[in-house]
Amino acid sequence: MSKTREIKAVWTGEATIEGAGVRLKRVFGYPQVAEIDPFLLLDHFGSSDPADYIAGFPWHPHRGIETVTYMIDGVVNHGDSLGNKGSIGAGDVQWMTAGSGIIHEEMPQPSENSLKGFQLWVNLPAENKMTPPRYRGLSANDIPEIDFSGARVKIVSGTLEGTEGALTDIVMGPTYLDISMHPHSSFVIPVEEKHTAGAYVFEGRGYFGEQTNAISEEQFALLNEGDSIRAQTTENPMRFLLIAGQPLNEPIVWRGPIVMNTREQLDQAFFEYQNGTFIKD
Ligand code: FE
Repeated sequence: MSKTREIKAVWTGEATIEGAGVRLKRVFGYPQVAEIDPFLLLDHFGSSDPADYIAGFPWHPHRGIETVTYMIDGVVNHGDSLGNKGSIGAGDVQWMTAGSGIIHEEMPQPSENSLKGFQLWVNLPAENKMTPPRYRGLSANDIPEIDFSGARVKIVSGTLEGTEGALTDIVMGPTYLDISMHPHSSFVIPVEEKHTAGAYVFEGRGYFGEQTNAISEEQFALLNEGDSIRAQTTENPMRFLLIAGQPLNEPIVWRGPIVMNTREQLDQAFFEYQNGTFIKD
C-alpha cells in the first residue's frame, strides 16, 4: 500500500564556524546522526561577503566517509594528497571517497557575487571504511536535468524515471536531487520505503506531506517512512535538496573530519596523522 511521507522533525541550519574561519550553516551533524543515518553532516555555505569564507578549509585529513560538494554559485579551489588539483564552479559536483585516508584543502575564491554551496557527508559501511581513497570531479554539464512531476530536477545521484544521476558509485548509493518547483504546483516522487529521507529548502518555501506549516529557507524537513514524497507550493517557488539513503545501523565514533566504528580505530587514525603514516595509498 502506498504511503506518503510526513514530516518527523524540522531542523534549522545553525550558524557554525568551520575550517580556518568559514561562517556557514550546519543543517545537521553530530547531534542528529542517529536520525539521519547513513548521512552524517550537511553544511550550507553561502555569503556575499568574502570575509565570511576566504579563510577556507586548509589542509586537513578525512577517513571513513565520502564527501559530496555541490556548488550553486562561486568557486572553490581544491587540492589533495592523491595529487588532484582543480576548481569546483557553479553547478559542479566534487565527490571524494576518503576511505583509508585523504588529506586535502578546500579554498573558496573571492567572488563578486555570492558563494553558495553544500557539503554532504555520507558514511561508509564498516567493511569499506579503509577502502582506497578516490576522487571525482563533475562539471555542471555532467549533471542530468529532467522535468519530472512539474518540477525541474537535477540528479546528482540516484535514478529518476530511468535517468541515472551523475555520481553512480558512491558506496551507499544515496539519492541526491536538486529540485526547483514553480509557485502553485505540486510534486510527487517515489522513494525507497525504508530509506532515511529529508528535504532541505534553500530558496523559497513550501509544504511536505499533509503538513500545513510551510518549510522555509534554511530548514530541513526530516521525513518518516513511506514510499513517496509529496511537496507543494503556494505563492512562492521552492528549491530544495532531496536526500535519501539506506541506514547503516552501525556504531559511529566521530571526531572532527574522521568517522569510524570504534574508539580504537579513531585513536589509531589520529595517531597516524600525527606521526605521518595516515596516508595508505
Ligand atoms: Fe574536507
